[in-house]
Amino acid sequence: MSDCVFCQIGSRELPAMVVYEDREFLAFRDINPQAPVHILVVPKRHCNSILDFQDGDDGLLGRMVLAAQRIARQEHLARRGFRLVLNSGSDGGQAVGHVHLHLLGGRTLKWPPG
Ligand code: AMP
Ligand code: ZN
Repeated sequence: MSDCVFCQIGSRELPAMVVYEDREFLAFRDINPQAPVHILVVPKRHCNSILDFQDGDDGLLGRMVLAAQRIARQEHLARRGFRLVLNSGSDGGQAVGHVHLHLLGGRTLKWPPG
């Protein structure tokens, strides 16, 4: 068993409220939502941080945003808007060491973030 919580969700060893899945990505509701809609878009292949991405990974990142766009429409966020967040490292607030894109929406979000 992997010791990565998002790999465990990917292999269905841990439950999650899955809202989207394709060949490369799984998306599920955040267990501690910070907005009425708070979904994590997660590559199925384990990768610790966006710092590990290389030149050839630009397609993966683009497709991750396209997956988030599809989910945003599915969650009826297209009209009012939403936010995509990639936390990286400890100062960036990254708690789970498997790359994930936060999709937040359903309320007016403050800027700048805390
Ligand atoms: P980050 O702080 O950017 O690493 O975000 C990690 C996110 O994963 C947090 O918002 C957590 O609430 C969320 N999270 C942690 N464990 C789970 C889980 N088992 N299912 C769903 N979301 C989780
Ligand atoms: Zn992982």
